[in-house]
Amino acid sequence: VNILAIESSCDETSAAVISDGKILNNIIATQSVHEKYGGVVPELASRAHQQHLIPVVAEAMNDSGILKKDLHAVAFTKGPGLMGSLMVGVSFAKSFAYALGIPLIEVNHMQAHILAHFIDSPQPKFPFVCLTVSGGHTQLVLVKDYLDMEIIGETTDDAVGEAFDKTAKLLGLPYPGGPLIDKYAKEGNPNAYEFPISDIPGLNFSFSGIKTAVLYFLRDQIKDNPGFITENLADICASIQHTLVKTLLQKLKKAAQMHNVKEIAIAGGVSANSGLREALKMMADKQGWKIYIPKFEYCTDNAAMIAMAAHFKYQKGEFSGLDVVPEARMKF
Ligand code: ATP
Ligand code: MG
Ligand code: FE
Repeated sequence: VNILAIESSCDETSAAVISDGKILNNIIATQSVHEKYGGVVPELASRAHQQHLIPVVAEAMNDSGILKKDLHAVAFTKGPGLMGSLMVGVSFAKSFAYALGIPLIEVNHMQAHILAHFIDSPQPKFPFVCLTVSGGHTQLVLVKDYLDMEIIGETTDDAVGEAFDKTAKLLGLPYPGGPLIDKYAKEGNPNAYEFPISDIPGLNFSFSGIKTAVLYFLRDQIKDNPGFITENLADICASIQHTLVKTLLQKLKKAAQMHNVKEIAIAGGVSANSGLREALKMMADKQGWKIYIPKFEYCTDNAAMIAMAAHFKYQKGEFSGLDVVPEARMKF
């Protein structure tokens, strides 16, 4: 079975081909137009998807060595994501499937981030808890089967990726700032400065407090020393990262205990963070967890994860009609 998959939920245009459950390629065009605006501009994102989608699909198809007539289905991200961006992928997938007379498979982007764990080995065993951390989401998910997942905790305000990006912006770093905080943090002292760890009840998260805390902290420091940020960038980044990672792991530990699970995975763009990866390994040793961390290329947005999800849906015969529409705030 050969499936073409398309991802266009935010600012990455991606296509991948999967054959009998094996990923053949994963072509990604990252949009650079947003850099100068310090964040993703939705209207520019849709236009860039329109420009990139056909070349990206052509490259994935050519590289796969599979002919269009040998495709069995076309998969696409239905949501969640930016409406205009999703619309481009959905419209393309519909026309492509219609022209070839093959079925459509809709995929939930957040489920796909988790299913990226089944692209390679070792693979987590059910049930496992997945901490999904990305630019738009922060979720604790109890994964009972490939397509049977339950959200047991999530952020009540900002996503952790947003907290990384917004604090990076306060430091004058370009978008997306998360990877840069990670980079500078490597040289810094994580205990140099203290920022508040939010602890709201249950398994939910709150990340809006740290942004404000960093804003006021910087304002006070700059008053006394205008060069404060440049002089202490590594220490500031290490301290911010330490706080965010600690907040995440505190809840992950609680979730694992509450659900009596020792198979633990992380997914989404922020799972590329080296501080999170390190801290998770240390906690796993203490707690006796078996942990699963995706390859870097499958952490941030990519179509391989959409293809993987589509593979499981194809096996269950879960197809969509041509009347399917994108859903910006799609739930599981
Ligand atoms: P969603 O999946 O919620 O719709 P998204 O698709 O925009 O959001 P991803 O592409 O999964 O999110 O992840 C992007 C986020 O990951 C950005 O916020 C980025 O800063 C963050 N990120 C990527 N690498 C790192 C890193 N090494 N350290 C910290 N944050 C990182
Ligand atoms: Mg992105
Ligand atoms: Fe994503």
